[in-house]
Amino acid sequence: MREQILGLITPLMALIFFSVFLLLWRRGKMGSYVLAFAGAYLFFGLGFVATHLLPDTGAFYVFHLTQLFYTAGSVCVIWGATRRVNQHVSLPVLGLVYVLTALTLAVAVGMSDETGPRLYIVNTGYGVMFTIGTMALLQAPRRSALDKLVTVLFAISAAQFFIRPALTLLIAGGSAASDYRESIYYSVLSVAVTIQSLATAVCLIWACAWDLIQGERERAQRDVLTGLRSRRAFEQDALSTIERAKQEGVPIAIVVADIDHFKSVNDVYGHQVGDKAIAIFGSVVDGMIRHSDIAGRIGGEEFCIIAWNCDAASAKTMADRIRRRFADTRIAGMPDDTRLTASFGVAARREGEGYGKLFARADAELYRAKESGRDRVCLPERENNLARLPLDREVRTASA
Ligand code: GH3
Ligand code: MG
Ligand code: MG
Repeated sequence: MREQILGLITPLMALIFFSVFLLLWRRGKMGSYVLAFAGAYLFFGLGFVATHLLPDTGAFYVFHLTQLFYTAGSVCVIWGATRRVNQHVSLPVLGLVYVLTALTLAVAVGMSDETGPRLYIVNTGYGVMFTIGTMALLQAPRRSALDKLVTVLFAISAAQFFIRPALTLLIAGGSAASDYRESIYYSVLSVAVTIQSLATAVCLIWACAWDLIQGERERAQRDVLTGLRSRRAFEQDALSTIERAKQEGVPIAIVVADIDHFKSVNDVYGHQVGDKAIAIFGSVVDGMIRHSDIAGRIGGEEFCIIAWNCDAASAKTMADRIRRRFADTRIAGMPDDTRLTASFGVAARREGEGYGKLFARADAELYRAKESGRDRVCLPERENNLARLPLDREVRTASA
């Protein structure tokens, strides 16, 4: 009876988790890592059915089928959890662990009916996989409390796979496969593993729901025309980025851009074409900045970029690349031979400088760029000179 209830509840739970992740993925338009979690619970459910509900549980093929399903589930959950925090696990390495484990298992099953060696083999395989996963999770740069909880649960999974077979051998001894299934120890173990699996599943659902809310929040802060940050979101992020740069001693630079003669674009070609030009400028900016930079549309056709770990010279180079690319891009609705241009002001953050002052200096440079003919990048004279100096002279001048 107990076996039957457990036998029904576990696949049912797996099916529920599978559906929840699948729903989150489809309805929430979430990343492929959520689909991987759905796959994991589908495979875990199939693995459980294979071990417990197939008529000949002791048969040779059942061990391999179970191991295949559980491995597929483990790989999915490890791949998903690491992918979620932008980390990478090597699938060929996980595949190699599986192949080695499966081959060793085949030898063990062929040689004796004892459960001990089999338990050691399969659990060591899963333990190695979860250790690889835990190590990748530990490499993730910025981790919230929830991410840390996922890492801890992965570490517990890895540890229990290594400890479990030894404990089983100690308590259940070298009993035959059929006796082992009947033991109290086996029931206790099943419950413990179920609780741990439930905790992991709930934590992963929680993490995905959190990601979904964060994603929605971020989308709400995006400017609809360009997909870049809206002014408010940009200023918030700029303040926190500058604060972080101060603490970590990382140089940052700011770029302010404004499309040239934009009023006449609207006047001549219409507002819709003007909107298209703004969207194109946004996508050029988005394609040119690094992942660590932040960019926003701060006005009608005005944009701002905070470049992380960047001095004045590199920021000027980046602005020039954006300028050239935009000046080369055709805008639908405008004649083939007509191009738009933009002007840029650049400033690198000075010691003790906050967002307000830094922005004002870059904005003054943008004004200078407009005044001196548009379609150019300007930066403060002193920073421009520093950028041209060879490194040793730059250091001497800076310390003078
Ligand atoms: P300058 O070279 O000196 O920058 O000249 P400009 O004509 O571009 O002058 P300014 O930057 O002041 O012009 C901004 C114009 O952008 C005014 C407004 O009509 C237009 N604009 C602002 N927001 C939008 C928008 O969302 N869509 C469109 N199509 N036009 C906008
Ligand atoms: Mg303008
Ligand atoms: Mg303007």
